[in-house]
Amino acid sequence: MSSSRDQPGLLRLSAHPNNYEWGKVGSDSLAAKVAPAAEGSGFELDEQKPYAELWMGTHPNNPSHLYGKEILLSDYLRGRPKLLGDAVKFPARYPGSGPKENADGHVPFLFKILTCKQALPLQIHPDVELAKKLHSDDPDKFPDTNHKPEIAVCLSDSFYGFAHFRPLKEIQGLIDTVPELDDLSESVKKSLSTLKDGHGSSNSAIKDAWQAILNLFGQDKYSKVVNGFTKRVKSEGPSAFKDAVSSNGAEDLAHACKILDEYNHGDVSIFATLLFMNLVKLKKGEGIYVGADGPHAWLQGEIVELMAASDNVLNVGFTPEQDNVQTVIRAITGKSFSVSDISLNSTTFSKSSKGNTRVYSVPFEEFSIMHITGPDTLEALSGPGIAIALKATRLQGEGVPMGSVWFVPAGTELSIEGDGEVWMAFYDSKSDQKEVGKN
Ligand SMILES: [Zn+2]
Repeated sequence: MSSSRDQPGLLRLSAHPNNYEWGKVGSDSLAAKVAPAAEGSGFELDEQKPYAELWMGTHPNNPSHLYGKEILLSDYLRGRPKLLGDAVKFPARYPGSGPKENADGHVPFLFKILTCKQALPLQIHPDVELAKKLHSDDPDKFPDTNHKPEIAVCLSDSFYGFAHFRPLKEIQGLIDTVPELDDLSESVKKSLSTLKDGHGSSNSAIKDAWQAILNLFGQDKYSKVVNGFTKRVKSEGPSAFKDAVSSNGAEDLAHACKILDEYNHGDVSIFATLLFMNLVKLKKGEGIYVGADGPHAWLQGEIVELMAASDNVLNVGFTPEQDNVQTVIRAITGKSFSVSDISLNSTTFSKSSKGNTRVYSVPFEEFSIMHITGPDTLEALSGPGIAIALKATRLQGEGVPMGSVWFVPAGTELSIEGDGEVWMAFYDSKSDQKEVGKN
């Protein structure tokens, strides 16, 4: 797309969906709906296949290309650092990024459209220090040494996901509603009773009990205990959780339990999530964040997801292969959060001339996100943006289709006409910190 003034023009990108098992299937998936324009003519819909995530960015595990060309966005940017502006200060920390020429040319964030019908693996993302240690111990298994703080903003009518540990009182209350826990191992029972006593550090009590449960992963006799619990919840409904949580909370728990039982039958992680972690229900436009020490497992719905440029993950549940629980435990603090602690605030963006753009305040350095829902002109940013049109619109005076993906170079003023809808991930060191969060 040509530039209107003395500024670089937008670059259309070709971004690719992946087919992880947990994604929504066929044209039911938003990742599949956007794919014909996002990927281009090479995309062929298979109604039997899950489409989990569309990746937009330069991460080598699923990198974006220039639209209609065999050129990687990272290769194109490598010789044109001006297009990244001051985001060049973030080094790439993944395979092939050793020599200087490979570390350059990277967008500091990875932007996704994510859709799920069932739980993603229960996971955590190590911080930079632990990631480096894991990499030096086992470079093949842990090639990626970046941290991966992330955010999710809901695109569907509702989205369910587990994020961070609940407040201790809620965990204690929920444990009391589950007599089946008495049939778990001695070590689980011991750690649960310490947790209920409330003596000592609640962080370590939560961690110990969570770890003891996850250690039972894959053992038949404990799967039977889980199945007894899910069967009971399915027959009792929300009242299974009695007075432990609000009535909305109990309804959400019963709903989540049903999905987990359907797709992750007998998995002990059902206890580790439902009883220990916040079950967050987002409405359209609402967002949450997950920091370095936050376990999470998205459950059902559609989101834009945005994270540091990383694919660095440890999986402990809802997965065919569990990573070492001991390692996972090293990565978490056991700290509790309430849902409002991890919710994202949004405000009208002060760089918007017509006020049709909201920006989310994100507590991480490498990225923020904006949502454009009408005609607007946005002041240039100091770093790059990657935008996806979720409704057809006009960018820089030209019509763009629903699903098309665009690289917005640093220093480019952006004009949007019409009633389209655009989500844009970006880095801008010059934005007001109150609006975008940390920078
Ligand atoms: Zn994650």
